[in-house]
Amino acid sequence: MYYYNEEKIRIAGIVEESIVDGPGLRFVIFTQGCPHNCKGCHNPQTHDFNGGEEIPIEGIIEKIKSNPLLKGITLSGGEPFMQAKALSILLDKIKDTKLDIITYTGFRFEELLQKENDENCFMELLERTDIIIDGKFEEDKKNENLMYRGSSNQRAIDVKLSIQTGKIVEYEF
Ligand code: SF4
Repeated sequence: MYYYNEEKIRIAGIVEESIVDGPGLRFVIFTQGCPHNCKGCHNPQTHDFNGGEEIPIEGIIEKIKSNPLLKGITLSGGEPFMQAKALSILLDKIKDTKLDIITYTGFRFEELLQKENDENCFMELLERTDIIIDGKFEEDKKNENLMYRGSSNQRAIDVKLSIQTGKIVEYEF
C-alpha cells in the first residue's frame, strides 16, 4: 500500500504560496492517497491511491528554490506518510534552504513511532519534519477556532523535541 518512487510524488495539487497552512508564506504539497476515511473529510478526492498525478521531484524542488519569500513547506493530503520515502528524498534535496517543515497526518504520533519500519519509512519523514499535525479529522470535535487544525483531537507536535525527550511535546503556534 505504501507508495514508492524515488523520482516522483503522486499529488492531488500544489499551492505555491499559502498563508493558511502554517505560519508565514508556505509552499504546500497536497499528496494523493489516504487510507483514513475520516467522516466529514473536506478533501475526499485525495483518497484514491491511483488518482491525482505523478510529478517529478526535481520540478517541485525548482519551484521551491525559485521563491526566496517562502518561510516553510507544508506536506498535506491525502496522507503524506504513505509516500514517506519520496517526500524524504525531496526534503533532503532542499535542506540547504532552511525552510521549516510541517507535515499533516491522519496517524497519531504514537502510531507512527509504533508502526515505523524499513518498508513504510515513517521515521525518515518524521526526522525531516519540524512539526506534525496529527490524528484523523473527527467531525464531532470540529472547531474552526483552532490554529491550523480541524478538530480538537488533533495536536501540533514538536517532532524533534518529542523524539529527544521520549514524550509528546506539543507546539504552540
Ligand atoms: S486524513 Fe485527512 S485527507 Fe485523509 S480522510 Fe482524514 S481528513 Fe481526509
